[in-house]
Amino acid sequence: MSKARKYDDRESSAKRGYGYKWQQAREGFLKKHPLCVDHESRGQVVAAKIVDHIVPHRGDMKLFWDRSNWQSLCKTCHDSHKQRIEKSGVDAGCNTNGMPIGKNHHWNL
Ligand SMILES: [Zn+2]
Repeated sequence: MSKARKYDDRESSAKRGYGYKWQQAREGFLKKHPLCVDHESRGQVVAAKIVDHIVPHRGDMKLFWDRSNWQSLCKTCHDSHKQRIEKSGVDAGCNTNGMPIGKNHHWNL
């Protein structure tokens, strides 16, 4: 009798606990990164309220939980940011080295 691949129920429980887990994770992230990175890049200090996915995860859980894909934003920046990305498909922003910060920007592919 071949043992069937062990069913991994972690995924379903993670999905059930998704909301709570995300709340915990984002709160922890905001504690570590309390300032809006967008405002910070312009030398302004604004408290971040939102943990944003730099690359839209579109349901990709690996991308969703990848903390290197997270950034703290205030609501204003989050909203303008998302609108820009949705229009152009890439993040038009750049970091202090002048490199585009969008991971899906062609420079970063
Ligand atoms: Zn901001």
